[in-house]
Amino acid sequence: MQFSYSSRDQIISSLSSEHYDLLVIGGGITGCGIALDAALRGMKVALVEKSDFASGTSSRSTKLIHGGLRYLKQMEFKLVRDVGTERAIVYKNARHVVIPEKMLLPIVKNGSLGKGPTSLALWVYDYLAGVKKDELRKMLSKEQTLAEEPLLNKEKVTAGGVYYEYRTDDSRLVIELAKSAVAHGAVCLNYTEVKELIYDESKMVCGAKTTDIISGKSIDIRATKVVNAAGPFVDLIRKTDQSLFGKRLQLTKGVHIVFPYEKLPLQRAAYFDVSDGRMIFAIPRDGITYVGTTDTVYNQDIDHPHPSLHDVEYLIKAVNEMFPSVKLAVKDVISSWAGLRPLIYEDGKSPSELSRKDEIIVSASGLLSIAGGKLTGYRLMAKKIADIVAKDLLSEAKNFPPSSTQTYQLSGGEFKSDKDLQDFLTSTVTDVANQYLPNYFLHRWVFRYGRNTAYILEQAEALKSRYADAEHVALAAEMQYSFENEMVANETDFAVRRTGMIYFDKIRLDRNLSFISEYFSELLHRTEVEKVAALKHFTEVVKEVTDFK
Ligand SMILES: Cc1cc2nc3c(=O)[nH]c(=O)nc-3n(C[C@H](O)[C@H](O)[C@H](O)COP(=O)(O)OP(=O)(O)OC[C@H]3O[C@@H](n4cnc5c(N)ncnc54)[C@H](O)[C@@H]3O)c2cc1C
Repeated sequence: MQFSYSSRDQIISSLSSEHYDLLVIGGGITGCGIALDAALRGMKVALVEKSDFASGTSSRSTKLIHGGLRYLKQMEFKLVRDVGTERAIVYKNARHVVIPEKMLLPIVKNGSLGKGPTSLALWVYDYLAGVKKDELRKMLSKEQTLAEEPLLNKEKVTAGGVYYEYRTDDSRLVIELAKSAVAHGAVCLNYTEVKELIYDESKMVCGAKTTDIISGKSIDIRATKVVNAAGPFVDLIRKTDQSLFGKRLQLTKGVHIVFPYEKLPLQRAAYFDVSDGRMIFAIPRDGITYVGTTDTVYNQDIDHPHPSLHDVEYLIKAVNEMFPSVKLAVKDVISSWAGLRPLIYEDGKSPSELSRKDEIIVSASGLLSIAGGKLTGYRLMAKKIADIVAKDLLSEAKNFPPSSTQTYQLSGGEFKSDKDLQDFLTSTVTDVANQYLPNYFLHRWVFRYGRNTAYILEQAEALKSRYADAEHVALAAEMQYSFENEMVANETDFAVRRTGMIYFDKIRLDRNLSFISEYFSELLHRTEVEKVAALKHFTEVVKEVTDFK
């Protein structure tokens, strides 16, 4: 079935009429990872997401596939080893959206670690995380550190270290997982909310009553096993299951802010000390530099975490202290995002001390809930859950093979090596047939869609006579592709989670708001009244990213 908004009726009809081996609640990295692992084993899988795919925490992270350096501070050695190993696998499986990034670790007077301990910590990290030879840590003198990044505070910096993180686009990773799961038979639908669970006569969970948010229709989905991968909402589903006792979530909010690159022109991504003992990232990419994150206990509306003025000022103060010549102010922020970490509560621990380990909770009804964890560890989490489900399904005389995700390349990520990816990039950018398109788009598409860029180029070819402006041809081709192949339901899905334009290409987004909204109005056959309302809503969403109170 096509993973397209136009196939919603067909998808809904299969969700309500078929019986599934597994129903997954939540279309973040955890849920989509589980759907893929299970579908690859041959299970019949359904997944529902109440908003858009990746609209929860999985589009609001620091966007790094970590090696787990910060866990060393908490002495979580096994976690460092696991995430390091995993990082190498995730990279090979999705090279187009997982990119090595050299990270500078400035050492400052009265900072959390001196040069000796930092060198040792990075050495342990290299060893535990199995870091590649050419990415091993390098220690730097004060002069070398300042040469790597001249904007650093010369009064404070005493030395530095260089190590590697891998950057990603979290929501692209989720979408590639969902597309891959669907390609292997999973039925995945966004804007479909689980309202309550369905139980059999033995009080075992056997499905869910859901609502299609777009049409308002109810859909009952039946499945042998149900997995709750609702991220920050995991406990709400457990409450519905009347099994919310024992371990509970502690939500903490993390904020990131975005500056135009010219305002914070770092040569290198940096991970640096803040005066309160925490550490934050400043990461230049795609014409912007983003900074984050905060970590504060959160007890407010789970659906709408938002950066407060206090969060923004905290991050700006930290940047101005470390890079004093940039003198940033709140008015320089062009975008932002806030996410909620679904961590497991531990008595007496501060937000930063809470473990990032994942936990699986099995309730008396058989509901499997999974929380905690990281983007980086999504594949292992998915494997663990699918192993449990496969074992339980043995009682139904269904025998499924083990996980095959270790070597499975995600949709668009079918590259044998870095060279293969680079060759693909070069041929896409230099192909004479593509020269009418702005180079910017060609480059972005390869790192957004990988091999699937070919389909967008086909769309562009078909649309090129319609628009005089090449930027419009490119945007229309991308919108058309995401509408037909990535289950985009509106302009916000497109600008926030399919392209990240709202964070990484805000100026181009601002000048094309009406164009994008009009294109979706046409795709969705909106009435005049609906068109006006859609543009108004879209404009508000875009404005919100710089509205801090
Ligand atoms: C600020 C911050 C920075 C981070 N940085 C990193 C990083 O750099 N690297 C890293 O590895 N990890 C990072 N993490 C952690 C990582 O982002 C999360 O662990 C991960 O995204 C959680 O994914 P998830 O799928 O479990 O939850 P989510 O992404 O929140 O997905 C759960 C989904 O369930 C849906 N849902 C909820 N209730 C229902 C219902 N009733 N019916 C249907 N659907 C429902 C929600 O809408 C949501 O989309 C960071 C987290 C934060 C907050």
